[in-house]
Amino acid sequence: MEEQGFFYRDTWAEVDLDKIVENLKNIKELLPGQPEIIAVVKANAYGHGDCQTAKAALKAGASMLAVAFLDEALALRKKGIQAPILVLGPSRPEYAAIAAAEKISLTVFQSEWIEKAQAVLEEDASLALHLKVDTGMGRIGVKSLKELKEVEELIQGDPRLIFQGVFTHFATADELDEHYFAVQLASFREFLSKLQTLPPLIHCSNSAAALRYPDAHFSAVRIGISMYGLSPSPEMANLLPVHLQEAFSLHSRVVHVKKLLKGEKVSYGATYEASEEEWVGTLPIGYADGWIRRLQGQEVLVDGIRSPIIGRVCMDQCMVKLPYEVPVGTAATLIGTQGQEKVGIDEIAEKLETINYEVPCLISYRVPRLYRKNGETIGVNNPILK
Ligand SMILES: *Cc1c(COP(=O)(O)O)cnc(C)c1O
Repeated sequence: MEEQGFFYRDTWAEVDLDKIVENLKNIKELLPGQPEIIAVVKANAYGHGDCQTAKAALKAGASMLAVAFLDEALALRKKGIQAPILVLGPSRPEYAAIAAAEKISLTVFQSEWIEKAQAVLEEDASLALHLKVDTGMGRIGVKSLKELKEVEELIQGDPRLIFQGVFTHFATADELDEHYFAVQLASFREFLSKLQTLPPLIHCSNSAAALRYPDAHFSAVRIGISMYGLSPSPEMANLLPVHLQEAFSLHSRVVHVKKLLKGEKVSYGATYEASEEEWVGTLPIGYADGWIRRLQGQEVLVDGIRSPIIGRVCMDQCMVKLPYEVPVGTAATLIGTQGQEKVGIDEIAEKLETINYEVPCLISYRVPRLYRKNGETIGVNNPILK
């Protein structure tokens, strides 16, 4: 594992790898028929760290990894990950030979794509493909049976191409209304029935579908958000058949402490004014870390007490109203637990009027990720010092 073992700043994220392992093991146990687990580690494993998460997922029983782009798959290969990897998103056909050489499976849904890929593949190349079917997501995939057959025939007609999988993606599996989901599932079955041969990996379920609909498991499921300990949607949080534990937390330290007098102001625009004497602390985290300006007013934990961010969030720093004077160096938890209090990722998502998926993805490369296992720090990833 390539990593920079140190960082010099008082802000960092912690990723509890044991929780990722436990979440995925618990999810796996719930799935009747034992489908293969494809662990989704796109976008640097939803901000958690691709390589470490991939290893945790494989340890928990995943048999394949999935990413969005070829670059992400190649990054895992560079870090020594040898497990099968599927690129879920579109790749350029010019790079088919690179994917073949690195044993990376690609997603296909256009016959022209296959023809272009055939032109760059060596005689003895071998490229595994997953045929994507659009059953109502409206993103990528073949939409008609005619396209399905054309793509299948092209794959089957070339010994260098391996028909490894067929899949689709649901738009509403996390919503309480099941109607659109049912329409998509029926459409997927219809497409499957029209294939000449079924490939070994038939998959359509994301976390939400995998946890709710056993009849949508087929031979594999694609697990992302739930492996990280988060519910696919707020509606589903109460329906989850499994206890999930958040693996990601975010920490900083109070690097300056001062007493404001009544009437004194804080940060750009001088929009915050002390209404009485109060203690204010400065945290070295700002919007360039993904702790964006909209988080003004959000509470962080200092000494186990909820303390609101006051004034505008700056690029690299923000200020919090302290419950009382605390020593410089006091830990501040922006996401996670301190004492009896917790600020979860869902709370931050609600504050930002977005979904929990977005929150750890937002925390930028500038925040070092510290990996925890068996209660110990086992590594640090600090890309800016690489
Ligand atoms: C991101 C993604 C997933 C994972 O979805 P979760 O809701 O995070 O489990 C599965 N399939 C595809 C095609 C994706 O893009």
